[in-house]
Amino acid sequence: MDLLSIDSLGDAEIADILDRAEMYFTGNRGRRGTERLHGRIVFNVFYENSTRTAMSFATAAHRLGASAISLSVERSSVAKGETLEDTARTLNAMRPDALVIRHRENGAPAAVAMIMDAPVINAGDGTNEHPTQALLDAATIRRRLGRIEGLKIAICGDIRHSRVARSNALLLPRLGAEVRLAGPPELMPDGVPPISIDEAIAGADVVMMLRVQRERLEDELGDAPGEYLARYGLTSQRLATASPEAVVMHPGPMNRGVEIEDRIADDPERSLITLQVEMGVAVRMACLELLIGS
Ligand code: ASP
Repeated sequence: MDLLSIDSLGDAEIADILDRAEMYFTGNRGRRGTERLHGRIVFNVFYENSTRTAMSFATAAHRLGASAISLSVERSSVAKGETLEDTARTLNAMRPDALVIRHRENGAPAAVAMIMDAPVINAGDGTNEHPTQALLDAATIRRRLGRIEGLKIAICGDIRHSRVARSNALLLPRLGAEVRLAGPPELMPDGVPPISIDEAIAGADVVMMLRVQRERLEDELGDAPGEYLARYGLTSQRLATASPEAVVMHPGPMNRGVEIEDRIADDPERSLITLQVEMGVAVRMACLELLIGS
């Protein structure tokens, strides 16, 4: 079994990952590791930059007693012109127990999964999907608010380029949430009914902000300093229109002062951004255990 998309998972598997993650979250806080994957090997192959996802998959593997081995892509034979398929055949011949891959091209993890015998986990492919991020977002919401069903969740910003938004738009409604997607018109995907950021945030229980992915933009946005925050970012005034108990999320990396005001990002009561990172390790432990164990 591979984890390429949220749709790779059945409802029972999603419930299992969220429950296991909650258990590992508590264990990790108590610094309790397990040896459930003792002797197993997880390959981490990141063709795009990563801080949170790469480190948390490696930490998750270690906490389960497995070894994580990272390929430094920029120093690998990729730089000598080796194709993705040949790299996959080479890695497969070393018989890892799982392979975690991030790639700039949509569908690259699926192409690698055709070649690998071991389970492949998509750690973000282009603008397509980032399923473990959505799972950790769901686990974080559930931990803090106790449920997902019935919540209004605003996901705001660069929806067009966001694999996080896409995976969350698949996952959160399956768990009973109402998802509202909003962003600048030029950063909205075709076919998504446009609502304004203000409409999305009004009365929301969760406000998830996204980074403008300037590295994927063909044309500059041409925004003056401060303009994006004022028009589309999460300011205190906008947050005041959300539910009084609303929490704030961001998958990181943040562009402070662009999509989110500093003091909201650092608000110890409302910001779940650090909790998301902490939950990320637990969710990735749950995913590795489910996939390698099966
Ligand atoms: N870290 C997330 C991703 O890799 C979000 C982002 O880069 O803005 O998709």
